Order: sequence, then structure tokens, then C-alpha cells
Amino acid sequence: MATLNRRDFISSAAVSAALGTLTPTSFGIDEEGTIDGPIAISSANGLRATAKAVDLVKQGADTLDAVIAGVNIVEEDPEDMSVGYGGIPNEDGIVELDSCVMHGPTCEAGAVAALRNIKTPSRVAQLVMQRTDHVMLVGEGALRFARAHGLKETNLLTDKARQAWLRWKENLSDTDDWVPASQSGFGDARSDATTNIPFTYGTITCSILAPNGQMSGVTTTSGLSYKIPGRIGDSPIIGAGLFVDNEVGAAGATGRGEAVIKICGSHTVVEAMRHGISPQQACLHAIKRIDQTTKIARLRRKDGRPNFDVKMYALSKDGRFGAASIWSGGKFAVYEGGRNRLEDCAFLYERNS
Ligand code: ASP
Repeated sequence: MATLNRRDFISSAAVSAALGTLTPTSFGIDEEGTIDGPIAISSANGLRATAKAVDLVKQGADTLDAVIAGVNIVEEDPEDMSVGYGGIPNEDGIVELDSCVMHGPTCEAGAVAALRNIKTPSRVAQLVMQRTDHVMLVGEGALRFARAHGLKETNLLTDKARQAWLRWKENLSDTDDWVPASQSGFGDARSDATTNIPFTYGTITCSILAPNGQMSGVTTTSGLSYKIPGRIGDSPIIGAGLFVDNEVGAAGATGRGEAVIKICGSHTVVEAMRHGISPQQACLHAIKRIDQTTKIARLRRKDGRPNFDVKMYALSKDGRFGAASIWSGGKFAVYEGGRNRLEDCAFLYERNS
């Protein structure tokens, strides 16, 4: 177990307290100022990822290899329809995946976007980082690169996702030539709360802090359901869907990517932590900025609040962690102190208000 610089930690805590902002969800350190093993955080669909990543780091794996192995479990799982294989497709019925990775110790990053046919875009993002002089490859170029590295091609569209897409397509309009099997049961095809069509956001982001102080992170997604082909969200964009600074901490995002991109969400969270703000408050800071910068009427409810959700997740170099969302009810996964669990996100607005 590594000993942290307790004086640095206390001074950063004092700055936060002075700013009136220190309300950490938890501290991943004990009273001696030591990290009790690796700490990993993830979106709520990432309990298997945090468990795997922590296990691998305990066995001596590199932090980036560990988080990628963690999210690979979810990328390869057809039951998670927001990530990798089995993800909901674009409006043409084709699954296009986005991912990025950051390796704290080397300050290296890699990303792929609108990648087809490969179950694990996070691995391709890592290869872009390790085996090219670039940071991001997209579309056909990313697929050719993945092929060159021997990644296996698969049709990513599962039957369940195809059927969801078909229902969405058939219910889009009653003046086109696509006719649904039944005219009943589907209302607003864009609302997952009022229909049984999975029109969803969904993503996995996972970051880890090793006892030796090394940090890494990954974000991977099939993006917004039924998106325009070629649409790229925040998940593959360094600074938006993910940011890691080995001296400060890591942050990731899920939810409406367009909103996250416009405030450089994960970078905003890490920079707030750099100024001594706790991870949870840093996430809330970014969430508030999204609220303040959402000016377009179609993105606001009648009461003026955003009609979408975003969640930000953060892990600081000193072992604190937290998450925040626009709307209440959000959870995040954390493995800390030997316990893998879901915790509540802080939030801006009560969901039922
Ligand atoms: N952020 C992802 C995107 O906009 C989707 C999500 O996290 O739900 O592509």
C-alpha cells in the first residue's frame, strides 16, 4: 500500500472547505493516509468492470489494461444495449461505436469513433494510442486500422436490437411506407419513459487509481440510439467523455453527449479538482454549467429545466470519488475499501419536481 502525501491532501481539503465546497461522497483512504487497495469508479452498468479492473491491478496489471479489460466485459455482453455488441444502432440500423482511453502515467490518449463491426472499440482506441502517432481515428479508417491489427469483425446488430430499431422505424411517422405490426402501444418514439421502445442514452466509463498513484480511464458506447449515421458523441472525445490527469484525477461522462461536448465536461471536472474542489462537487460544477448553457427551448421543459440527463463521475488522485447528475435517482459503481457497490449520484433537480 502506498503512503499518500497527507500534507498535500489536507491542504487541498482546506482549500475546498474554505470555498465551502467540500462534501465528498467518500474518502478512499484510511486514517493513516493510505489507499486501501486500488479504487475504481464507473457508471452504474459497470460493477463487473470495476471488479475486474481492481482485480487485475492487484495482480500487477497496468491501470489502462485493467480498465479496458473491465469494460470489455460490458462491450461483449449483448444484454447491455448501450455499449458494444448488442448496442442500439443508428437510424440505418447499423451499430456505430465510440470510445476513448487515457493513460495517466504517460499522458497518452487514443480514440475511435463511428467504428463498425468491432465488439471492443476500447481496445482499438488503445491501439491508436500505442501504435500510431495520432489520437483519433474514425469510420472506415478506424475499421481498416482494427483489421490491420487482427481484430475480429462481427455483425454487432443482435436480433433484439434489430427488432427495437424496426419498431422505432415503423413508428416514426404514419405517413411513410413503414407500417408497424400493431398501431397501438407506441407513443412518442423518442421517449423511453412513455413507450417500450428503447430510445436510450447509455455508455460505460471506468477510471482507476492504483496504490502506486497511477491512474487511467476509458469510456465506450454505442451512443445515442437511432442517431444520424456518422454522429459522434462525447464518449470518444478526450476532455468531453473522459479526461485523466495523473497528478489530479480522472473524470468521465454519460448521458446527452452534445451537452457534455459543449462544456468540455470531463476536463472541466478535472480542472475543478485541480483547484481543490472535491470530486462530487467538481461533478456538480460541470452539471450546473450544462444547465446554465442549455439555452435552446426544445431542450428545456416547460419549467425551464433540461429535458435530458447527464452524469459526471470523478476520482481524485488522493482517493476521493463522487458523481453527479442533472436529475435525481442516478447511481454510480465504485470499488473501494474492498467493497464493490452502487452509490447515489448528487443531483441538481429532484426527478419528480
Ligand atoms: N454520451 C453518449 C453519447 O452521447 C451516450 C450516453 O452516455 O448515454 O453518445
